[in-house]
Amino acid sequence: MSLNSKELEESKEINRRAFLKMISGLGLTGLLAGGLSGCVPKQTEEITPPLLAKSKMWPENVVGRIPIDPDNPSIVRYDEKCILCGQCIQACQETQSVYSFYNLPVVDETICINCGQCTLVCPTGAISERDDTRKVLKALADPEKFVVVQTAPATRVALGEEFGMPAGAWVMGQQVAALRRLGFDAVLDTNFTADLTIMEEATELIKRIKGEIDKPLPQFTSCSPGWVKFCEYFYPELLPHMSSCKSPQQMFGALVKTYYAKNKNIPAEKIVSVSIMPCTAKKFEAKRPEMNDSGLYMEKPAIRDVDIVLTTRELARLLKQRNIDFNKLPEESYDSLMGECTGGAIIFGATGGVMEAAVRTAYFFVTGQQPPVNLFNLAPVRGLSGIKEAQVDIPGAGTVKVAICHGMANGRKVLEKVKQGQSPWHFIEFMSCPGGCLGGGGQPRTTALPSDEIRTKRLNSLYQADARWQRRESHENSEVVALYHKFLEHPMSELAEELLHTEYVSRADKLSRTAVATARSWKLKVAK
Ligand code: SF4
Ligand code: SF4
Repeated sequence: MSLNSKELEESKEINRRAFLKMISGLGLTGLLAGGLSGCVPKQTEEITPPLLAKSKMWPENVVGRIPIDPDNPSIVRYDEKCILCGQCIQACQETQSVYSFYNLPVVDETICINCGQCTLVCPTGAISERDDTRKVLKALADPEKFVVVQTAPATRVALGEEFGMPAGAWVMGQQVAALRRLGFDAVLDTNFTADLTIMEEATELIKRIKGEIDKPLPQFTSCSPGWVKFCEYFYPELLPHMSSCKSPQQMFGALVKTYYAKNKNIPAEKIVSVSIMPCTAKKFEAKRPEMNDSGLYMEKPAIRDVDIVLTTRELARLLKQRNIDFNKLPEESYDSLMGECTGGAIIFGATGGVMEAAVRTAYFFVTGQQPPVNLFNLAPVRGLSGIKEAQVDIPGAGTVKVAICHGMANGRKVLEKVKQGQSPWHFIEFMSCPGGCLGGGGQPRTTALPSDEIRTKRLNSLYQADARWQRRESHENSEVVALYHKFLEHPMSELAEELLHTEYVSRADKLSRTAVATARSWKLKVAK
């Protein structure tokens, strides 16, 4: 069978990519990067997707690979390492449905949801997270500062991979010990605010279902900042569906400089709030202008809730620089006040985990009873299928229908259903990265390409921890109960709304000039 010229081009491209994937597995791409340092536009024509090849609307230095703004807070590219393989384009277009899903020319920024999936597939490491380790070292060296660190649910099943441990190795205690060896003054847990997120989000869902607040169903989860930005760009008309809850990282940030500072008698100005995340989009999220509620609470708006975000990879780099022998560290426990967690918080790191944790607590809130045993192993929401569905009977609330999706190409399919009024669901979990946070763009990339095999091992590790945890429902977290008792009063109280909830903006105007008028016609706030 003979191929026409288009098919021939495609087959050449596939062979080239397959070859690059193969050599990346053999660790040989560094040689290629050295040989091809500097990217000459002529070399790119063969592999440049038609949209860019024909449009001539990008500057030449981005043709053939993903465009990245120089001031992108999450990712950077080192051009001398780029071999123009196009795999970043593939990840951005096929996994995330971002690249090429907008009109050129863009208005004033390069469209990016900061997910970092391109950093995981780049075979030479030309694209990587923006390195913020020096900022942390500076803060740790300042005797006037009290440096607090929080760790996300998914880093504890991936950090060990950087030190030769098998994928999914559970290193929660060693991670705490490592952070103490680096010199952090308090080592606390984002899982504490994952439980808190469930308290607020389940309350909001029940209010929507009962018609007690004027917000539509289905409710969308809001803890994945890449997903939130995706919705702001591409589906701003659906933003009223988004839960107003901040992500666990940002809830933590707002509390550490208010509740924690008061309890420990430390001036908020002295606190540097650092987070260790599996996610490059968390760097963007921490910089969102509205994420200074602790500052507003104290009438010092310059104070930010989260000061510095490091990915799992950056933490590993810091530990290696400091010669901390991770494999020999003992297991240590988190500090108190914001360091306790339940099994519900642990599974936040996996696709479907937020949903399962929320359903457990929503059941308790509505019935006042312990959830039935099947809600502690909600099989239909587990695993790596791109889109999952389940329904749960909650006496007093009826049958609650839920959906889960991860990777924004899957998310787009679900959003189209909601947009067309064909959604049967009450609650939908969206995660921007394949597998959820455990497959985040800041996680270790010690294999050639991120694979479902690795993701499954991390996922199993999280569910095994949940199964052995003594308390598995977020409302059982005694430090969260104390927080409401001493400070917030109850979920969605006035103070909880002030510190733990937020609002969103349309970014549709960044996609093309015609979108500006559309966003305005929806009466949406437009991002500056
Ligand atoms: S960070 Fe995500 S959205 Fe941005 S260029 Fe990379 S893959 Fe695309
Ligand atoms: S994946 Fe890396 S090497 Fe390949 S085109 Fe993109 S930046 Fe260049």
